[in-house]
Amino acid sequence: MSLIVIGSVAYDGVETPHGKVDRMLGGAATYISLASSYFTKVGIVGVVGDDFAQEDHDLLTGHGVDTEGLERVPGKTFFWQGKYTPDMNDRETLVTDLNVFADFEPKLPASYLESKYLLLGNIQPRLQRMVRQQMKNVKLAGGDTMNFWISDFREELLATIRDWDFLLINDGEARMLSGETNLKKAAAKILAMGPHTVVIKRGEFGACLFRKDSYFIVPGYILENVFDPTGAGDCFAGGFIGYLAQQGFDIEGKIDRHELSRAVIYGSVMGSFCCERFGVERFRTLKRAEIDARFEEFRQFTSF
Ligand code: AMP
Repeated sequence: MSLIVIGSVAYDGVETPHGKVDRMLGGAATYISLASSYFTKVGIVGVVGDDFAQEDHDLLTGHGVDTEGLERVPGKTFFWQGKYTPDMNDRETLVTDLNVFADFEPKLPASYLESKYLLLGNIQPRLQRMVRQQMKNVKLAGGDTMNFWISDFREELLATIRDWDFLLINDGEARMLSGETNLKKAAAKILAMGPHTVVIKRGEFGACLFRKDSYFIVPGYILENVFDPTGAGDCFAGGFIGYLAQQGFDIEGKIDRHELSRAVIYGSVMGSFCCERFGVERFRTLKRAEIDARFEEFRQFTSF
């Protein structure tokens, strides 16, 4: 396995101005794994209940995702329900039923321990740290977090991201974590917390990658119809780390700024595909050639 992904595997209920689905496959680790599977060999670490459908398991394995680290225990799979605002830039969480996720203690199969790339999806920082410490030979590790951990588990989160190479975070959360309103200042403060690379995601407005001495900015891909933005941030993460893993990118060697920029573009590409259908639907038909074509489109519309 090249890349290990950890996080929630869920059933989601989602309402957007384009429709409503009461229950469908979701979860951060699901989206990250599916998106990164187009680039590299992925192993997933998570937990599901005995209600987890075989066809959902098959969608993961059909993308080549290794599920040895996906534990199945008695009980119900994590359930999340959200409703988007009419402009879809914001959402309200209506239900979070942790179910089997409440007692989740990540267990890494022996076959995952030597993997070189690690993406820690949005879960309790203590668990993210536990996994990071077990993976001794990782070349590149980083992940995601959310407002709840920033506000209520701040010290634990700071101790966790100290060991990360990169942090992927949305603009509101970057402001919250840093205490700075200005994104450049926010990024500088976050870089001082440990990660040498921070990517601030700005929803439909794109993303900015910051390092100590440089930055790279990409606009959002303009879709005619955004059906469901759920998972777009996770798919961004999947495209970003997936591309770096595919390239065998080694942060300890020469740091190639251009490869990091390309990873941000692949992240943006995967986030945009995710929004084109409800839930994970787009991944049932998406082909690598479509991904590379959209990458080239990004090159054209940002060139001047
Ligand atoms: P995103 O839209 O990228 O923020 O990711 C949405 C996914 O995160 C959904 O599929 C949810 O199942 C999952 N999710 C929502 N809340 C949580 C939470 N508290 N912990 C872990 N995963 C969550």
